[in-house]
Amino acid sequence: MEKKEKLYEGKAKILYATDNPELVIQYFKDDATAFNAKKKGSVDQKGVMNNSISAKIFEFLGANGVPNHFVRLLSDREMLVRKVQIVPVEVIVRNRVAGSLCRNYGAVEGQVLTRPIFEFCYKNDAYNDPLMNDDHVVALALATEDEVKTIRRMTMQVNDLMKKFFLALKIELIDFKLEFGRCKDGIILADEISPDTCRLWEQGTGVRLDKDRFRNDLGNIKEGYQEVLKRVTGQ
Ligand code: ADP
Ligand code: UDP
Repeated sequence: MEKKEKLYEGKAKILYATDNPELVIQYFKDDATAFNAKKKGSVDQKGVMNNSISAKIFEFLGANGVPNHFVRLLSDREMLVRKVQIVPVEVIVRNRVAGSLCRNYGAVEGQVLTRPIFEFCYKNDAYNDPLMNDDHVVALALATEDEVKTIRRMTMQVNDLMKKFFLALKIELIDFKLEFGRCKDGIILADEISPDTCRLWEQGTGVRLDKDRFRNDLGNIKEGYQEVLKRVTGQ
């Protein structure tokens, strides 16, 4: 496997080409951003921890029938993944109230939702990743109706699996964001699944173990990621 040119550098990761056109390397940085990059910082070793946590979750989901881009770990900050054409929507699932549900609807943080909320947001920083419904996604040709159906079905399956995965580690999955992409086999799960993209609260205590420590200046940011890593990898 040969690492080739940089294809893209985002806020938290870098993508590199490989000698195989169907595979890319996903490199995890320590950079942290929040509130559409209005807040910027860095968390020591975050990239290493997110690479490892994401790999474990993708392996778990793959083993439970959720097709995803993960191929294998290459180094402490790099994973080999299948190259996809990202569907430009962020898919958010919420099990309990937090973040923008509080800000936009005045809902009480921590309230258990009577059923999970499934949201699409347009993946476009210039427009602040606005919330959209299925009609926007299809009518703006971001995805077909069939793709939307597949994404919804896979997302609900991921939610059920991940809720159980984290509960076994005494962690509650409050909400999370997924990204999907197209490859020759159809729609697969891509990007990362980590404390950067999930809200994770310790069961019983409600202690935040995710990027909210960075967003809201809660302190001991690195330790939150370390705790998730420890539980996820069983070390
Ligand atoms: P952002 O672009 O929001 O700053 P990142 O820093 O996480 O985000 O950059 C990673 C980029 O790679 C994202 O835009 C994501 O959609 C994209 N991506 C994730 N997985 C794949 C993949 N398997 N193939 C191609 N692109 C991917
Ligand atoms: N999220 C994400 N990337 C984004 C927006 C949201 O990973 O660009 C995740 C976030 O970590 C949380 C969930 O999606 O787990 C819901 O986020 P919310 O809409 O509450 O937004 P925020 O409070 O982060 O602005």
